[in-house]
Amino acid sequence: MESIDCQGCGVLIQTSDQDKLGYTPETALEKETVLCQRCFRLKHYNEIQDVSVSDNEFLQMVSSIRDANGLVVHVIDIFDVNGSLIKSLPRITGDNPIVLVGNKTDLLPKSTNRRKLEHWLRASAKDLGIKVKGVYLISSVKGHGMQELMEDIEKYRNHKDVYVVGTTNVGKSTFINRLINQSTGVKDVITTSYFPGTTLGFIEIPLDDNTALIDTPGIVNKQQMAHYVSEHDLKLITPSKEVKPKTYQLNSKQTLFFGGLARLDVVKGDKQSFVCYFSNQLPIHRTKLEKADELYENHKGEMLTPPDAQTLNVLPELTENTFKIMDERMDVVFPGLGWVSIPDGNVTVVAHSPTGVSVTLRKSFL
Ligand code: GDP
Repeated sequence: MESIDCQGCGVLIQTSDQDKLGYTPETALEKETVLCQRCFRLKHYNEIQDVSVSDNEFLQMVSSIRDANGLVVHVIDIFDVNGSLIKSLPRITGDNPIVLVGNKTDLLPKSTNRRKLEHWLRASAKDLGIKVKGVYLISSVKGHGMQELMEDIEKYRNHKDVYVVGTTNVGKSTFINRLINQSTGVKDVITTSYFPGTTLGFIEIPLDDNTALIDTPGIVNKQQMAHYVSEHDLKLITPSKEVKPKTYQLNSKQTLFFGGLARLDVVKGDKQSFVCYFSNQLPIHRTKLEKADELYENHKGEMLTPPDAQTLNVLPELTENTFKIMDERMDVVFPGLGWVSIPDGNVTVVAHSPTGVSVTLRKSFL
């Protein structure tokens, strides 16, 4: 195939991989103006579609953000903060100001202390060397928190461009689509926004005559649980409604299985509550620690599901991490799955999670 560039975003057109940048169906190649599917959808449906690139590919694409002068809006998933914070963000953004947006707040229990959650998000970003102007909690599906965020974006951007960055699955497209819907007069976005010479694969949505909101491709982070499960399992583990906590009174030497994707052993400590915040559809099984290994070997993919058969083929082995928890009100966080709150503390637990998807500890924000 001769090489064709998309008339919208300038990226090289390809017809083989739907999820990758530049995809267009072969039939569309005969048209006079060839657009990649992502630009086509934006032009005809005013809708942003998700495409993904690897961390390295992205780094090569983004020198323009570093060199540009604009506001960076980093969208993350509050259910997968570890998997969705972009570790290379300071390298990507240079000295540009950053606003951190925690999306999917509609999934959190009503009792969530938002101030603590914001504090934790800010601290998690700071640990990675990401200094943020502000932290915002939103639901792009429900529209919560959007008004305040939009007003502050307007303030911080200081008449400059806005770059929206995020890993895949955080809800970046949903967020931008809501922004487009809430703005007026953005018909025919592509034709008004194509500036030859802008970075390939970036889509520009005009904000006014001189500046634009720029959608960048979603970055694939290998630490996201989402990359190790089938589409079917991803649906099960991703909460779709407010999460209902499930409480277990556990003695020492007891184990909880979260499907067969993760596991928590209580190895030392008095009997106490363990409050589990996971998708309401993820089954939790309690068993004796001494039986846990055997149960896992014999029943993963069956009674302990998800994983389904397809996920089992790609799921890395579970790795252990021991946490000696002295403080009260700590959470053991299984990124991309959920967390277990331990109100009393003074306990030693072993958390098992797929290798590469590391379990962390944080102060509870509920
Ligand atoms: P992208 O890959 O970052 O562009 O993410 P998408 O916008 O495609 O969203 C990924 C998934 O998260 C979809 O199933 C969305 O419906 C869901 N999603 C996005 N935003 C929210 C939100 O605010 N709340 C909830 N509950 N789900 C969301």
